[in-house]
Amino acid sequence: MKKTMIKDQLNRPLRDLRISVIDRCNFRCQYCMPAEIFGPDFAFLPKSELLTFEEIFRVANIFVKLGVEKIRLTGGEPLLRADLPELVKMLSTIEGLKDIALTTNGVLLPKLAHRLKDAGLKRVNISLDSLNDKVFGIINGRNVKVKPVLKGIEAARKSGLGIKINMVVKKGLNDAEILSMADFCKQEGLELRFIEFMDVGHTNGWRMDDVITKKQIYDILKEKYDLEAMEPAYFGEVAKKYRYKGTDILVGFITSVSESFCKSCTRARLSANGKLYTCLFNGNGYDIRDFIRNGATDEQLQERIVNIWNNRKDRYSDERTEETAALRKKIEMSFIGG
Ligand code: SAM
Ligand code: SF4
Ligand code: SF4
Repeated sequence: MKKTMIKDQLNRPLRDLRISVIDRCNFRCQYCMPAEIFGPDFAFLPKSELLTFEEIFRVANIFVKLGVEKIRLTGGEPLLRADLPELVKMLSTIEGLKDIALTTNGVLLPKLAHRLKDAGLKRVNISLDSLNDKVFGIINGRNVKVKPVLKGIEAARKSGLGIKINMVVKKGLNDAEILSMADFCKQEGLELRFIEFMDVGHTNGWRMDDVITKKQIYDILKEKYDLEAMEPAYFGEVAKKYRYKGTDILVGFITSVSESFCKSCTRARLSANGKLYTCLFNGNGYDIRDFIRNGATDEQLQERIVNIWNNRKDRYSDERTEETAALRKKIEMSFIGG
């Protein structure tokens, strides 16, 4: 396939596409979809507003032509989208697409891991913020215990999927769990990624004071383990990675708050209702769904995406302060997918 490489205003290429396939979730993580706000009366998107698999496939093809090599499926909880393996199968036929990954809370993996792997999925990031049932139940807002997630990890492992574990760390909530999570993942040979609590959306009550930074986490790990810094594996790699000395087990940090990485941000995001966001912290996306439903050709769609990317200037995390977090209109994490 002939690719057209495009750059934004800060000279960043387009490399990654994150697709949110659903805005619903079976959890109510307090840093993402707090139960008080996402209650029984919350109006989620009706099915007719979600991009269909055919629409996602069509848009993804154009993104790959424009330089995208990796697609990550996310949500909400992506495994709640009916027939998700079908979508993976369709995406895996796109010539030039090197990697398809998924971020999930893991509880539906025992049902789906094998089918996803067979369909062409390569890797999963499974979110797990604590090994303590009480703490985990409070975080996920639904009293879900740790065991179902561990079963999901096991299912992913058995089906041959690559696995990383995501842990969002919030002060006073699960910062006491940092070492036990590191011990567990190291013992299991799993790469753990510590994620700084971010001010995505407006419902999670984010305060700078609640952020546990990479440095704080690193200092805790250093007391027990010898860590060797790794060079970034490619331009735009988000996680800062370390290796436990004498092993090939890695641990990473997503430092959106304490060490922003906007200058190498190559990610575009497509929300479940077909809006294109050029930054996780934007309030307004660019409509793609109605553009195609109103009859746009592939050429017109490509031109629209090129224009949007060429005009992109986003560098929110470089400029974040407590004030910007409160003032700026931003999309909710559960809608855009992290
Ligand atoms: N439901 C799936 C899951 O939890 O893995 C996928 C969607 S979730 C929005 C994607 C990732 O974003 C998860 O790893 C989650 O922990 C992370 N996340 C959600 N809210 C966050 C926040 N406020 N700060 C940092 N990471 C967050
Ligand atoms: Fe659901 Fe994932 Fe958000 Fe938790 S982080 S509420 S599992 S979308
Ligand atoms: Fe990319 Fe926006 Fe995050 Fe910066 S703040 S790294 S531009 S998504």
